[in-house]
Amino acid sequence: MTGLISCTLECNLKCKYCFEKNGDKDKCPDTNEINDKFRGAIPYFDKFIDNIYSYNDESKSVIIWHGGEPTLIKPDLMEQVMEMQHGKGHDISWRIQTNGTMLTDERIALFKKYNVFVGISIDGLKHHHDKYRITKSGNPTFDLIKKNMDKLKQNNVQFSVLVTITDNNVNELNDIYRFLSAENISFSYNALYPTDNKEKYAELNAEEYSLAICELFDLWINDQLSKIVIAPFEHIIEGLLCQERGIPACNWQKNCSESFIAIDPLGDLYPCEHWVGDIQMRLGNIQDDFGTMAKVNNIFDDRAIILAKKECENCEIFELCYGGCPWNSYILNGRINTKDNSICYGRKRLIKHIYQYLKDNYKGKLKEIIF
Ligand code: SF4
Ligand code: SF4
Repeated sequence: MTGLISCTLECNLKCKYCFEKNGDKDKCPDTNEINDKFRGAIPYFDKFIDNIYSYNDESKSVIIWHGGEPTLIKPDLMEQVMEMQHGKGHDISWRIQTNGTMLTDERIALFKKYNVFVGISIDGLKHHHDKYRITKSGNPTFDLIKKNMDKLKQNNVQFSVLVTITDNNVNELNDIYRFLSAENISFSYNALYPTDNKEKYAELNAEEYSLAICELFDLWINDQLSKIVIAPFEHIIEGLLCQERGIPACNWQKNCSESFIAIDPLGDLYPCEHWVGDIQMRLGNIQDDFGTMAKVNNIFDDRAIILAKKECENCEIFELCYGGCPWNSYILNGRINTKDNSICYGRKRLIKHIYQYLKDNYKGKLKEIIF
């Protein structure tokens, strides 16, 4: 079980495609209020991590600082939580997902001290990124983030990048790859989540997207010089080579709620950070019995069964895909037990493409998929 700490839903940026329901996006966040709430929640976060650690039989457990924007939290407050866990001898692997605009020296020192792996959202080259990822006053952010990534490198803090693929960068993925490869920065990608902000960007064309992703795979797999990892490709290869285990990423799981749980500063628990604040999806509070909550966190149990009989019936990749992310389905269709049709076409194309590559190049045993 991986734990996500939703530090705040507030953010210092105003990305045009943002899906967070965090109030007035034009208003600068009140950092005093945010930090007061976080300070009050420290005992909850500590208890949450204790529970996850014992739920995982005291084996190495992953805790992710998430938001909104988690770097709105003062480093000394975050440190209090990490130090409490460190003091108990818990083996925690810390991660943070940030927009990368507020990586002060103090914060970088904290990441270094606790070996925090940093995930930074950057949407490719400067002209891609600055079109959508802007400050509250509309200023660009690429140069600042690039400078901060350089600082992380100088301080030997491990990090990777998360690229959101939009209509704006989909045709230049190869250039983005070359840029990140030259910088020796591994990355992951997401196609733009469906949001209700549609007047601010054009929707991704599924055909264009899947073609571009297959091309990116070819470029990456045939690049003998680069050492960077493109996480979704590695995950798919792993899933195809070992289909019993499946593809090791949340949105390819049969039931992601078995592996993820999120907490907010009120101590309320949710299946993952996307659901935070949605009262219908609240699992309970950290003051309640965690074991019972983790077990009742089976909110998506029936989804795969329902989809196998209905919308995903006869899909050749069902045993790998399971209908995609339940949150995406909920946002797109208003119901969890529906498939995430935004990814359907692209997933089938990419799986077929990588499967064919493995068939041609991999000499070991590969379970047959009939396309
Ligand atoms: S709801 Fe979606 S984003 Fe959240 S854990 Fe599940 S698959 Fe991942
Ligand atoms: S690709 Fe589409 S039809 Fe196939 S399992 Fe995934 S969501 Fe269902």
